[in-house]
Amino acid sequence: MKMELVTLIDKLAEEHKLSKEEYITLLTGCGSEEAAYLAEKARAEKEKYYGNNVFIRGLIEISNICKNDCYYCGIRRSNPNCERYRLTEEDILECCREGYELGFRTFVLQGGEDGYFTDERLVALLHSIKANHPDCAVTLSLGERSKSSYKALKEAGADRYLLRHETANEGHYTKLHPAELSWKHRMECLQWLRECGYQVGAGFMVGSPYQTVEMLAEELKFIEEFKPEMCGIGPFIPHKDTCFKDEPAGSVETTLLLLSMIRLIHPKVLLPATTALGTMAENGRERGILAGANVVMPNLSPASVRKKYMLYDNKLSDGAESAQAKNELEKRMASIGCTVVVDRGDAVK
Ligand code: SAH
Repeated sequence: MKMELVTLIDKLAEEHKLSKEEYITLLTGCGSEEAAYLAEKARAEKEKYYGNNVFIRGLIEISNICKNDCYYCGIRRSNPNCERYRLTEEDILECCREGYELGFRTFVLQGGEDGYFTDERLVALLHSIKANHPDCAVTLSLGERSKSSYKALKEAGADRYLLRHETANEGHYTKLHPAELSWKHRMECLQWLRECGYQVGAGFMVGSPYQTVEMLAEELKFIEEFKPEMCGIGPFIPHKDTCFKDEPAGSVETTLLLLSMIRLIHPKVLLPATTALGTMAENGRERGILAGANVVMPNLSPASVRKKYMLYDNKLSDGAESAQAKNELEKRMASIGCTVVVDRGDAVK
């Protein structure tokens, strides 16, 4: 192993921060041995707070109708080949019921920015979910909304909100989104969510078009500062009906390095091994957990819509990605010494 890198890894594990230059050195220099050492440190840090527990979230994709036109995303509004759907309130409650039976205690409602889901409708839905399942957490992932909306949804019972910032670099953001979407506004939304009292999830894609290693170092500096309770990262994967269809996918190895580094920066973070990671690599989620992740989010959407929520090509939704295959997930996690728990899985204080 390169001693310079070992020293930096030890420093990160102790001080939970490095300079931008030091992050770049790690990101460009780590080979497989250094990555294994980094992962070992990250796992030790995770185990201090969460032991070998893996938290599960039932992911319900409530609508693929979206007013936005993000250049990378398969459900962008200008994709005519995307077959649109929207779940009814009854569908969503049924998914929660089934998820509860399966042992899920967090439901994540994710979707495109679909104007049908007004505050009024979401508030009613949140009241129903919380009445049916008072011992469960509800996470929303419905994009940018007004501060008053975030406040109303929090008061109606939402516990957490996932809003990936997508990139910490404003110039980069403008290359991934049309002009009507602004980086400053997305960052402002993250701030509002925090002010409203949510457990907040930020995150970014690894290897998105135009991303440089300097930008990845900026991502890590952002995590140091903002300290989101949750952080969703996964490789960028091209979608055939988008501007970026011919762009290469992000690297699995870099994603794993970043998971370990994020765990060391922010030891108590709730860190998912994402579907995108599982899509890009055989045993991707197990490898994510071994790199320091502690959350997986199996798909709990009705089977009839799963193939329609195609954010990127070949997105997994069956096998161990499916909530119904929780047994298989449990076996896979047991094979790496981890236990899937029936628990809300809040961040430790
Ligand atoms: N409308 C919601 C949910 C977006 S989908 C919102 O704005 O937050 C959830 C995440 O999928 C996005 O934040 C993005 O980071 C990721 N995603 C979208 N397209 C992707 C692609 N082509 N490859 C990898 N991840 C992608």
